[in-house]
Amino acid sequence: MTDTKVYLLDGGSLVLDGYHVYWNRGPGGEVRFPVYSILVEHKDGRFLIDTGYDYDHVMKVLPFEKPIQSKDQTIPGALALLGLEPKDVGVVVNSHFHFDHCGGNKYFPHAKKICHRLEVPQAANCQPFEHLGYSDLTFSVEAAEARGQAEQLKSGQTKANTTFEGIDGDIELAKGVKLILTPGHSIGHYSLLVEFGSRKPILFTIDAAYTQKSLETLCQASFHIDPVAGVASMRKVKKLAEDHGAELMYSHDMENFVTYQTGTKFYG
Ligand SMILES: [Zn+2]
Repeated sequence: MTDTKVYLLDGGSLVLDGYHVYWNRGPGGEVRFPVYSILVEHKDGRFLIDTGYDYDHVMKVLPFEKPIQSKDQTIPGALALLGLEPKDVGVVVNSHFHFDHCGGNKYFPHAKKICHRLEVPQAANCQPFEHLGYSDLTFSVEAAEARGQAEQLKSGQTKANTTFEGIDGDIELAKGVKLILTPGHSIGHYSLLVEFGSRKPILFTIDAAYTQKSLETLCQASFHIDPVAGVASMRKVKKLAEDHGAELMYSHDMENFVTYQTGTKFYG
């Protein structure tokens, strides 16, 4: 591994109403949107940012989000397309713990895990309006036990192998791989900026802006803990992209996602 490469691991799709995607703005009606994780191959190791959703969890708890996920769109399946297994990933970072960003954490008991220092406590004791977002608790024994959901833990999770290093502020994970604090959507949400040797940087908004239209209109999703902070985070993302001449990539934007490189194709 010499120059940094970024692979997008296609994780399938889900459905929300347009008024959830564009809070208080809509239009309403079913919107099918993509879910994906970001694998960064760096000279210092492999970093996986987010782990998608677990199909069985969605069918059990939120079947109205109508998941479509093939075997190749599970985390082990998407890694296998690249000739990799979960054990080949050294570090897992969760942008936040909504179910569609942490469903595959169970495959990485060996990995070092990183998130904002307030995200696990929040998942363990979330606001009533955050219960569905923070519904897959398999990423943390601590959170699952605190919520009375220990029965979710069926994949050998222990306190030791679900412990996170808690971070705060903007952090350089490895040279040119930067976690950008963008709270509002969740209490400790992170976006991701990756710099390359030979192409322009990519700024992954993650859920600070579901779509290009979200960012252009500063219209966040209805899922948030602090909408004012959410607007400030969108402005921060916009300015950062301008300052770095970065290409913006959005977390849940089907129109853009179909143009993104997935599978064995990569950015770098
Ligand atoms: Zn989210």
